[in-house]
Amino acid sequence: MPGPTALPPEVVAAGARPILYSRSADFVAIWEDVVTRLKGVFQTEGEVLIFGSSGTGAMSSAVANLAAPGERVLIASCGNFGERWAKICADEGVDVLHVAGEWGQPIDPAAVAAALEAEPGIEVVFVTQSETSTGVVSDLPALRAAAGDRILVADAVSGLGVADLPMDRWGIDVVVSGSQKGLMTPPGLAFVAANARAIERSAGLGPGGFYLDWERTRTGGSRSPFTPPVTVVAQLQAALELIDAEGLENVFARHRVLGRMCRAGVKALGLELLGPENPEANVVTAFRVPEGVPGKAIPKAMRERFGITIAGGQGRLAEKICRIGHCGYYDYRDIVTTVGALEIVLDGLGHPLELGAGVTAVQRTLAAAGLPG
Ligand SMILES: *Cc1c(COP(=O)(O)O)cnc(C)c1O
Repeated sequence: MPGPTALPPEVVAAGARPILYSRSADFVAIWEDVVTRLKGVFQTEGEVLIFGSSGTGAMSSAVANLAAPGERVLIASCGNFGERWAKICADEGVDVLHVAGEWGQPIDPAAVAAALEAEPGIEVVFVTQSETSTGVVSDLPALRAAAGDRILVADAVSGLGVADLPMDRWGIDVVVSGSQKGLMTPPGLAFVAANARAIERSAGLGPGGFYLDWERTRTGGSRSPFTPPVTVVAQLQAALELIDAEGLENVFARHRVLGRMCRAGVKALGLELLGPENPEANVVTAFRVPEGVPGKAIPKAMRERFGITIAGGQGRLAEKICRIGHCGYYDYRDIVTTVGALEIVLDGLGHPLELGAGVTAVQRTLAAAGLPG
């Protein structure tokens, strides 16, 4: 599954520690360490704010703190999560110019540039880095260029710590994420990484809600203004220690091989990938449900016969695609076993294939990548 994802044993163990008082020196030290390590994962010298919420809380906070009610912003989407930006804006009373792309294709930077040129006055642009509903990863540097000097906000709830996103180097003003996908931590924490000009804009607009207000959260500093989920914060520290020990570049490299293996296995089974192949789209692999196979039958059989959870499609892609998540605590053998099980399941459902073709392609891809060190 692309999330909530499995937890490394170290992260499970951190969850069994006694509760720490949220104002104690011990907890403040964990909090400060987590913020420092998160800045490394976001690849930013800007600020990182932590909220006790799911990832959507960080998205809501970005709209509430960066756009005034009645203001018009641009949203460029290519799937279910991108469209969530528009729903949040509707609730916050923010007006939207929506460049809604095809589900399964990346966001089109030229369409964004054209829409912004046709409608001067827009100051904030919201996009999605990894569109988890389709597996597509959009080209953020191209979207940065298309957005001109406007504030650019990217949803990286599933892609952070999976697909390289050097936000400072690429000039992305705000990146939002959550704890339960690439970061190998239970659900319960959301993050906003913001550069100085985004913080300045937010401060100038006044409060962005009470609980999700960036200024209140920032000035809380190492003392979060409200009681944080202390256990999940301690678990996040354990997960970030693992990421730092592996090395962020190695984490990205591992995901590149996982993604390549999974795409090779799926294609070798005669399945069609959703959307164009992209060597950086390594969060989730989506394939079309083959003709004649009922959409829900594949995840159901995977779970019932093998105890392997894969996801179906969301929204308009429900029952049309399946999604294999490989973001976070995943290793090469997970792809071998998942594709191996998928072969048996599809064979049983009458999809023509040669047993072993998928696993062979997966193994060849891994062998060509060199054995992991
Ligand atoms: C999972 C996800 C979200 C929503 O996160 P929640 O934690 O479920 O609120 C938003 N955007 C993307 C791209 C996601 O993958």
